[in-house]
Amino acid sequence: MTRTADYARRYGFPQRVRVVEVGPRDGLQAEPEFIATTDKIAMIDRLASAGIREFEATSFVSPRAVPQLRDAAEVIAGVDRTRRVRLTTLVPNPRGAVAAAAARVDAMVVFLSASESHNRKNVNRSREQSLEGFREVVSIAREAGITVRGAIATAFGCPFEGEVDVAAITDIARAYAGMGITHVTLGDTTGMATPPLVVERCRALREAVPQTDIALHFHNTRGVGLVNVHAGLAEGITIFESSIGGLGGCPFAPGATGNIATEDLVYMLHECGVETGIDADAVADAAAWMEGVMGRKLPGQAAKAGPRLRRSAMDAVATACG
Ligand code: ZN
Repeated sequence: MTRTADYARRYGFPQRVRVVEVGPRDGLQAEPEFIATTDKIAMIDRLASAGIREFEATSFVSPRAVPQLRDAAEVIAGVDRTRRVRLTTLVPNPRGAVAAAAARVDAMVVFLSASESHNRKNVNRSREQSLEGFREVVSIAREAGITVRGAIATAFGCPFEGEVDVAAITDIARAYAGMGITHVTLGDTTGMATPPLVVERCRALREAVPQTDIALHFHNTRGVGLVNVHAGLAEGITIFESSIGGLGGCPFAPGATGNIATEDLVYMLHECGVETGIDADAVADAAAWMEGVMGRKLPGQAAKAGPRLRRSAMDAVATACG
């Protein structure tokens, strides 16, 4: 048995996981400068050719609320669908669901915050009102033969309320299951997750909604994003969300880094013996390309350092560092 496979077995990691690229939506939504539609499409196509199969491609939200994603329909229409990619999109309300269905997305994602104050701040509704509104979204999606996933934001802590009770998460997951939504993403919106919280929340969800698929969405705000993934893997989680380059930020912490970087996630998974079906080098190339699109350095690290076993000529460096 190889070293990596042996490691994966010791920790009880799944053999293979799904990486969902959320850069086009979560990574870009707060960018003040409009990113060209052709660049958004090229970003998805590039990552698809690197082997990524699932994308949170955009959000059918009001263009006034999120001007960056005003080209949602054009992005969906422009992506090369021959590669068997699944394009999911955030849908905040029935109007968004109608637009998403017309654009022929593969899945819609409804979302609410585990904390009442964050939900009010985010969508100006109580959690109860949000859940009520999802019923119509679900029926629009069902009519169009499109599956619906549910996301829970601030699942590991709230920037306004602090700790978020685990019962808030299991209650929402049960409400989702009651509407037929059996894919739940725990979102670490402001980077408050820690390994003990990940373990606690995954176990509680498994118990509350055993039929539901769990996905984890971490931000690297406090530098422990990949450690949280490691904790999730040990709990048997098989779906992880990330953004190329670590695009994205945190509205409550100016200067903070965004999502965990896809190239770093893929690097860690492969080195820990977990398969993804993704070409790590091609993803790193895509991250470097993305820096060109954004016109700045992005926080992801694996693309900058290159493969672990890339060797340098001894006389090419002035001095070895400690
Ligand atoms: Zn996020």
